[in-house]
Amino acid sequence: MPSFDSRFARELPEMAIPWKGADFPDPAVLVLDDALAAELGFDAEWLRSADGVRMLTGSEPPSGTTAVAQAYAGHQFGGYSPRLGDGRALLVGEFTDTSGNLRDLHLKGSGKTPFARAGDGLAAVGPMLREYVVSRAMHALGIPTTRSLAVVTTGRMVRREENLPGAVLARVAASHLRVGSFQYARATGDRDLLKRLADHAIARHHPAAAESDRPYRRLFEMVVAAQAELVAKWMLVGFIHGVMNTDNMTISGETIDYGPCAFLDVFEPSTVYSSIDSGGRYAYGNQPPVAHWNLARLAEAMLPLFDDDEEKAVEQATESLNLFGPAYDEAWTEGMRLKLGLPAGTDNGNIRKIAERLLIHMRDRRLDYTSTFRDLPHRIDDEDWLDDWRALDPDIESLKRINPMYIPRNHLVEEALETGDIDQLITAIDDPFTERPGLERFAEPAPEGFGACYQTFCGT
Ligand code: AMP
Ligand code: MG
Repeated sequence: MPSFDSRFARELPEMAIPWKGADFPDPAVLVLDDALAAELGFDAEWLRSADGVRMLTGSEPPSGTTAVAQAYAGHQFGGYSPRLGDGRALLVGEFTDTSGNLRDLHLKGSGKTPFARAGDGLAAVGPMLREYVVSRAMHALGIPTTRSLAVVTTGRMVRREENLPGAVLARVAASHLRVGSFQYARATGDRDLLKRLADHAIARHHPAAAESDRPYRRLFEMVVAAQAELVAKWMLVGFIHGVMNTDNMTISGETIDYGPCAFLDVFEPSTVYSSIDSGGRYAYGNQPPVAHWNLARLAEAMLPLFDDDEEKAVEQATESLNLFGPAYDEAWTEGMRLKLGLPAGTDNGNIRKIAERLLIHMRDRRLDYTSTFRDLPHRIDDEDWLDDWRALDPDIESLKRINPMYIPRNHLVEEALETGDIDQLITAIDDPFTERPGLERFAEPAPEGFGACYQTFCGT
């Protein structure tokens, strides 16, 4: 087992409350990612043992470390909450994986903490298994994400609308620093804390910023760039996060907090699946402007680090924030070039035009987003579009290397959670680009009418 550190707690004690996980009656591993365990340097057999399971639920942290609940603030659906924090989660600590990278081990559903407010501190099996499946798929698709090491059932029931079996998700991340972490530090009025947090973030995620003569602005710009690229990847693959609150946006650029997330079936930018998003704030097509809005909140939080003169600081922040649009456009256009099989060097304007015409066609015909890209020439019945696309000299073979065949489609995820049988779905999504016999149904679009009434529910 790798050795653990408590770096976050040591460097930022004002934002860490030492805490322990609940003692659960009958904890047992439900699923565990063996390949990830090996990559991290954990012995999977040990993780499944009684001692391993106690670590994975937080009741017994590794020797020499103190688990903590992290403090953070955040804008939830646009409304500011000054004190959110880990209400049902713990940061066990940081460790170095087999590639030499520093990672967080974090538990979700490990019991009430001082940030729990009215919550019970617990999580149900369904939503934790959902995060496990979807984060695993995102990783296989090449999208930066927190990883799921294991889901452990607790033997304790959780009261929701009905009584549900409880679980703890063991999650691994580059860190759990969020936009909301900076909002929290800023709100304390303690500039030294804000600076320490920024230094911690630079050291862990964007060390190149330390070389700059204006390291904090550089840090901010690197977060802007990382998030622009991340959200472009979501859009290209048809992913809807569902709860893009500022406490659910990382400084590292990894996707975090899989709640009511989903993949598009039919291409329709106004798609919202989340039951808690009645206004459509976090609809598929709104994700880029929402990311920009969240980054503006990060800029506000970081202002005192940019310049002592507030007016100058705002000017600098605005200039840096303006990098989001071009960075997003560039990442999206390059991604679309690849999705359409077009050669390197194709004019960006041409890529955008042909892609936008395709998306309009897909929307009008209510085509399935994922399978249409994979099988482009056979799915499109617009001869003009096909002629113009062919004139750009696409490499048809490359479509199948770039456009996935298997994604965790909503109807498949629901079915897997209902039956408890996730093995075949995992087999499909672990290798999303390779067509394999026996997995046909995992490539098929949702049954007619499924999307119209489909809703995802938050894990709380
Ligand atoms: P989330 O929607 O999971 O991003 O959580 C938003 C906030 O609510 C965070 O501060 C969580 O720690 C807290 N929270 C969510 N569910 C619970 C729960 N069952 N018990 C305590 N706190 C919770
Ligand atoms: Mg969250």
